[in-house]
Amino acid sequence: MIAAQIEKIKALLPKEVTLVAVSKFHPAKQIEEAYRAGQRVFGESRPLEMFEKVDILPKDIDWHFIGHLQTNKIKYVLPYVKMIHSVDSEKLLYSIDKFSSLNSLTTKLLLEVHIAQESSKQGFSKEELLSLLEKLKSSPLRSSKICGLMGMATFTNDDKQIRGEFRFLKDLFEQVKSLHPELSPDFKELSMGMSGDYHIAIEEGSTIVRIGTQIFGER
Ligand SMILES: *Cc1c(COP(=O)(O)O)cnc(C)c1O
Repeated sequence: MIAAQIEKIKALLPKEVTLVAVSKFHPAKQIEEAYRAGQRVFGESRPLEMFEKVDILPKDIDWHFIGHLQTNKIKYVLPYVKMIHSVDSEKLLYSIDKFSSLNSLTTKLLLEVHIAQESSKQGFSKEELLSLLEKLKSSPLRSSKICGLMGMATFTNDDKQIRGEFRFLKDLFEQVKSLHPELSPDFKELSMGMSGDYHIAIEEGSTIVRIGTQIFGER
């Protein structure tokens, strides 16, 4: 069942798009099933849950952290992840950089942009993002790399609304690329698209999709 779902999704994704299988709230046994089907990239959103899974699952898994991260939980996450998708504040960004530096890590991260209508979702506004990147020009990060942007669209059946939000993020991504050549060549990922909207996200230029429910079922 899990293997069949992964096959089905992979068949729909362009080759260059990375599939993050979002395994949050699902037991290690289900992750093993996906692993046996060849999946190596998994997404988790809670620090301690990820920390426990890392310990018992195969070492060649690439873990992506996609949830809201509090600065006091950084130590459970940073040493084990391939990428953090959800850097949503300046304070978190500098804390990640500091921890990385002190622990001789190089952390790959994405800056989360608020593109949805719901205020419950996290992320920088376009203006906040652009001013942060301007500021970083004079005080660059030491031990982390900004590899792109992440966003979550509004939870709605209105495809036009979702498409508009993804298009906004893609435009911002291109704008940042041209305004900030100092971020190249790391700045190349656009993480957008979940179970309900990834088909739209890939049409709008996503390079990473984060899919949970469609692989593992309801949480
Ligand atoms: C849970 C989650 C997903 C996966 O959502 P599904 O609808 O189950 O595919 C993707 N991205 C983030 C940030 C999430 O928290």
